[in-house]
Order: sequence, then structure tokens, then C-alpha cells
Amino acid sequence: MNGAHFAFTDRWGGVSAVPYEELNLGGAVGDDPRAVRANREAAAGSLGLDPDRVVWMNQVHGNDVAEVDGAWTSPLPPPVDGLVTAVRGLALAVLTADCVPVLLADPVAKVAAAAHAGRPGMVAGIVPAAIDAMKSLGADPSRIVARTGPAVCGRCYEVPEAMRAEVAAVEPAAYAETSWGTPAVDVAAGVHAQLGRLGVRDRESSSVCTRESGDHFSYRRDRTTGRLAGYVWLD
Ligand SMILES: [Zn+2]
Repeated sequence: MNGAHFAFTDRWGGVSAVPYEELNLGGAVGDDPRAVRANREAAAGSLGLDPDRVVWMNQVHGNDVAEVDGAWTSPLPPPVDGLVTAVRGLALAVLTADCVPVLLADPVAKVAAAAHAGRPGMVAGIVPAAIDAMKSLGADPSRIVARTGPAVCGRCYEVPEAMRAEVAAVEPAAYAETSWGTPAVDVAAGVHAQLGRLGVRDRESSSVCTRESGDHFSYRRDRTTGRLAGYVWLD
């Protein structure tokens, strides 16, 4: 739309073996690095992207955002949970397996951002940090398009009662209950509430729950498993 592109992978179409089958895009989950490289090349190719023009993160559940104008030159990406760029054609990628992948773009200012919002990151403010980083490059929240991808849903994400209270104290919209009646958090609901308060109106959320979907990786379901990716880029 208007030169902004958003894409989310599922687990199929790659070369990784069990328990990472098939399209594991995570480089730090125990999978064969050659398989991950092949999968990243295949995923980029299917999106019409140059795999060398995809920027990855070393995600740590924090709220730091890095501005990038190209792929990392050092072998290890820095520990951040958000990326922002004003470079057209440069794709920003976020890895998840239950956490919320957040893709953002202002097609007018030509600024894109990707963020990894798990429960700790959402509470720590990775979403406002990503919006702030976009604004510093000229983005306007009223123009920002936000898409969140497959993630564990609020009916599946069971947490201790005290943890739900801590999360809801920061973000009331994340208060949830599992389908079996125990305390839960809905991270995507929290992310969207934060985006809404920041003035981002064009928001859509994936209907896929990773824990319930056999077509997606879920850390809470499988523990040792692969990672999905979300990609955002501008023409
Ligand atoms: Zn669910």
C-alpha cells in the first residue's frame, strides 16, 4: 500500500529439520546455521528482497531502537528490540515465536520500523520507543500504518496472577483470562492500545494465535522450536 510493504512468514517452505521444520529464520535457537541461511535467502527471494538488504536484530526483550541505513557489518547485530530506517528498499526483520511482531511504516515520510514486543518489551515501552524513533526521522503517527503478526493470543497466554497485575498496571488493555479461566495477558491488545494512544489509527492485527496454529512456531507450546519473521520495507 502506498509503497509500504508488510510480510509475515509461517513455518512452511524451508529446509530446517525437526524440531525447526521447515522455515526457521532464527539464528540463535540451535538450528543448523546453513539451514537458517538458506531459509533467509528463500524467504527474501519469495518477497522480492535481496537477502543482504535485510536487517536483523539481537532481540533481548528491552526497549532500545537502532537507526539503520544498511545491513550490519559486524557479524553480530546489536542487542535491540526495534529498528528504524529512512532507506527505501532496506527491509527490517523481527523474529518471533509467540511474541508480537510489530511492523510500522509512514509511506509519506518514507520511514519504516520493526519492533519485537513480547510481554516484557511491551511493558518496557518498545512500542512508544519505536514511534519516537520514527518521529525523529520525520514520521507522523497519523500517517503511520501498523501491522502486528501472528502471536500467542490472550486466551492462551497464561501467567501468574501477580504478573497479570503488574502488566495491567502498566497497560490495562493487556489484562486477559485464558479460555480455561486462569490469569492471562494479551500482549497484542496492549500493543494496539499503546499505538492508539500514540495517534496511530491505521492498525491491523493478525487473527492467528501461534500457540493454536500448527502452521506457526510457538515457544510456549514447543519450547525448542523455530522463529517466524515479520518484514517491513518501503519502495
Ligand atoms: Zn490462542
